[in-house]
Amino acid sequence: MPEVLSYTRALGDQAALIADENLQASMRDLLERAPLVFSLPSPLGLVFRRYRQQDFARYIKLGAPAAVVLAVLMIAMVDFCFKMAIQGWQGRIWWHTVLFDVGLLILVWPGFLFSSLMRRHYPKVVGSLVAVIMASLLHTTSMLGDSRTAQLLSYASVFLILISGSALRLSLRAFIYANLAGVMMAVLWGHIEPVDPDFPMMVFYLLVSMLVGGFICWLMERQEKFNLLQGLLLLAESDERQRLNRQLAELASRDALTGLANRRRFDEAIALEWERQGRDKQPITLLLVDVDHFKKYNDFYGHVAGDACLREVARVLQNALNRPADLACRYGGEEFALLLPATPAQGGEDVADRVMKLIDELALEHQASPTAAWVTVSIGVACIVPSAQIDVSVLLMNADQALYHVKEHGRHAWFRACH
Ligand code: GH3
Ligand code: MG
Ligand code: MG
Repeated sequence: MPEVLSYTRALGDQAALIADENLQASMRDLLERAPLVFSLPSPLGLVFRRYRQQDFARYIKLGAPAAVVLAVLMIAMVDFCFKMAIQGWQGRIWWHTVLFDVGLLILVWPGFLFSSLMRRHYPKVVGSLVAVIMASLLHTTSMLGDSRTAQLLSYASVFLILISGSALRLSLRAFIYANLAGVMMAVLWGHIEPVDPDFPMMVFYLLVSMLVGGFICWLMERQEKFNLLQGLLLLAESDERQRLNRQLAELASRDALTGLANRRRFDEAIALEWERQGRDKQPITLLLVDVDHFKKYNDFYGHVAGDACLREVARVLQNALNRPADLACRYGGEEFALLLPATPAQGGEDVADRVMKLIDELALEHQASPTAAWVTVSIGVACIVPSAQIDVSVLLMNADQALYHVKEHGRHAWFRACH
C-alpha cells in the first residue's frame, strides 16, 4: 500500500500522535460530517503539508523536465503552425516571453532537487513562479494587441491557470494568491490596453479558467485531506491491532502465577535453541529446579502461602540468570527449568551454585521440611552439544535423571548428569 507508506513517511517522528484517542475521535467526526471546507485538527495540518511536500518532491523530479519538454514541444508546434503570424517585432516579443518563461522553469527546477528549503516552501516558490509566468504572458498579450500571437499567449495563460489548479498540488489559498498576484503584477507592469474585440473575451476565458482551476484545486485538496484522515485512522487501527497481538502473544507465553515463561514458551525455545546451537556446534545446558518437600509446605502453610513461595522462588531464579539468551520457565507445579544456550557444563554448574546460594539466602521458613528449616531446592543439570543423532528429549531426560539422583541422595543439592 504505497499510499499508507506515504502517510507513515509524512508522520515521521510524530507517529505516536495518531494514538491519541481525542484526535482519532475528531478525525472520525470530520470523515462522518464531510464538511465542504475545513481545516485539519492542529497537528495534522503539519502532517498534511509534509505529505503534500513529499508528494510534490516525488512528482517534480520527473514532472519539471517533462514540463520543459512539453513547453518546448508546444513552442515548436506553434512556431511551425503559425510561422507567418509570429514575425517582425511581434515575433521578437513572443520569443522573448517564451525564453523568459521556459528559462525560469529550467532555472528553478534543480533547486527543488537539491534544496530541502525550497522543497519545504514549494507552495510559495511554485506560487511565485506561476504569478511571474502569468504576469509575463498577460503583459505580452496586451502588448501584442489583437493578433493571433496574442491569442496564442492568452490560451497559454488559460493552460497555466488550469495546470496550477490541478497538477501543482497547491492549496486553494495558494492557487488564489498566485493567480491574483499574476494579474496584479501584469496590471502594475503597465501596457494593459483593452483592445477590441478580444480583450473582453480574454478576460472571460481567464475568469472561467480561474473558476475551473480553483474548483479542481478545492476538490483535490478536500479529497486528499479525507484520504489522509482515512489512511491515518487505518494506520492507528493496525498499530493498535499489532499492539494487542503482541500483548496476546506475550500473555500466551507467560505463566500467570510467577510471570516466568510458561511450558509452551519453553518447548518453543528449547526446540529453537536445539536447532541453532546444533548449527553452531555449541552446547546447551538445562537445569531442572524442583522445590523440596513442597507438598508438605502446602499442607503446613496452605495453598495461598504455597503460591507466594513459588513466586519468590521464581523471582530468585530469574535473578540468577545474567545472559539475555538465558530463559527461566515454570516447567510445571513446583518445578522450574533454566535454559542456558551456548553454555558449557561448567557454566551450568556455576548457575546451579548461584541458585542454591540465593535460595538459601532467601531463607523462606519451612518448618515441615525434613531437609532444612527453610525452603530448599534440588537441581538436575544436563549439558549436550546438539546433533542430528540426538533428540532434544535426551537433554530433558538427563536433567530429570540428575534431579532424581539428588532427590534420592538427600535433596538440597545439584547433580550433573554425564552424557
Ligand atoms: P520433593 O521434595 O520430592 O520434590 O517433594 P514435593 O512435595 O515437592 O513433590 P511432590 O511432587 O510430591 O509435590 C509437589 C506439590 O506441589 C504438589 C502440589 O500440591 C504442589 N503444587 C504444584 N503446583 C502448585 C501451585 O501452583 N501452587 C501451589 N500452592 N502448590 C502447587
Ligand atoms: Mg518438589
Ligand atoms: Mg516436583
